[in-house]
Amino acid sequence: MNSEAASRVQTVTVLGATGSIGKSTLDVLARHPDRFRVHALTASTSSAALRDQCLFHHPAVAVLADDRDEAWLRAELKNAGLATEVRSGEAALVEVAEAADVDVVMAAIVGAAGLLPTLAAVRAGKRVLLANKEALVMSGALFMQAVAQHDAVLLPIDSEHNAIYQCLPSDRRDGLAGMGVTQLLLTASGGPFRGWDAAQLSKITPEQACAHPNWSMGRKISVDSATLMNKGLELIEACWLFEARPEQIEVVVHPQSVIHSMVAYSDGSVIAQLGNPDMRTPIAFGLAWPERITAGVERLDLFKVARLDFEPANEAAFPCLRLARDAMLAGGTAPALLNAANEVAVAAFLDRRLGFTSIAEVVAAVLDTCEVVAADELNVILDEDGRARRVAERYLTR
Ligand code: NAD
Ligand code: MG
Repeated sequence: MNSEAASRVQTVTVLGATGSIGKSTLDVLARHPDRFRVHALTASTSSAALRDQCLFHHPAVAVLADDRDEAWLRAELKNAGLATEVRSGEAALVEVAEAADVDVVMAAIVGAAGLLPTLAAVRAGKRVLLANKEALVMSGALFMQAVAQHDAVLLPIDSEHNAIYQCLPSDRRDGLAGMGVTQLLLTASGGPFRGWDAAQLSKITPEQACAHPNWSMGRKISVDSATLMNKGLELIEACWLFEARPEQIEVVVHPQSVIHSMVAYSDGSVIAQLGNPDMRTPIAFGLAWPERITAGVERLDLFKVARLDFEPANEAAFPCLRLARDAMLAGGTAPALLNAANEVAVAAFLDRRLGFTSIAEVVAAVLDTCEVVAADELNVILDEDGRARRVAERYLTR
């Protein structure tokens, strides 16, 4: 983005506007009408929520993932006197991500469905606020190459990666070693089942798994947080974002979720970013970077927090973390296979077709079954994603 673009009102597309991150993004945008204008809002099935967002934000375009409610939404917005164009389908999602008059794209679709529009935003050289970690996990090398090749500005929104980004020096061209970084300390709340034994874990319901103690999030990431797959996906995400090797990343369970991650330096310094657990902080950071804007988040009250605890992750009880680290070490399509198997398993768990502890079993079975190949072409990644999903579904119905 050039300096002229930075000084005028920024035009924003929010992919996945009706989700948890999408809503927080719109909350921050609404606080700064002098800085931001909404170009497009997109949603999957929540068409009524998308209508209400359109009535408030007046986007130029609204996109639904499929055409079921397209005519209904068009009529609703027209009757309300809005000029918003209503579209549907993947091509439309891609178009609003790469449109010439868009400066900023918030990538907040959940799962592999976000890959093509997020990559389109990168290839169009946008400022991309990356919440959709699955897109990067699936296509890491290709994605980061596209960021460099198209001069996109990639800002991590995942709170841990946003924290690490804030704890690194602003001139980060020489890689971690060049900056004197010895380790990235990725904090984890430990999820709602920290300290539970195998017998307790096997009986967990979707309602329990979706009730995270510190963060309010969508259902899929809530389950991922409970299995620690979220931390595994984040480890892979950190490897790509910060050019780190898996062994340079230590997972630190920190139940209060006040420190959002840390960077350790060769001189013994450990720099942390702290704040209340509210995604509007990293979202506001991404929207305004390198400036700072208000986000509606209260300042952290350290006296109320009083203490900070730390412990290692229990990988025996929560094998998904190890599966993700091993997939990153295996390279190629292994992280894409892991992600696809996990998406199928989590959906089956939320549907009550699979037990909580079997999520890791499905992921392990898919990684054992599917051959890992080089992940340097998008078609290969999408094919392998499809293959992993079919193998996972077969495992479920065996
Ligand atoms: P969510 O389920 O609340 O929202 C997902 C959004 O994506 C919705 O707008 C939904 O309509 C849309 N969507 C779902 N399936 C789609 C499809 N097939 N095609 C098009 N759109 C589709 O999820 P969330 O919690 O907001 O998370 C979004 C992303 O951000 C995830 O990748 C998650 O890992 C990441 N993230 C979330 C949080 C958080 O606090 N919620 C924190 C860090 C990272
Ligand atoms: Mg996170």
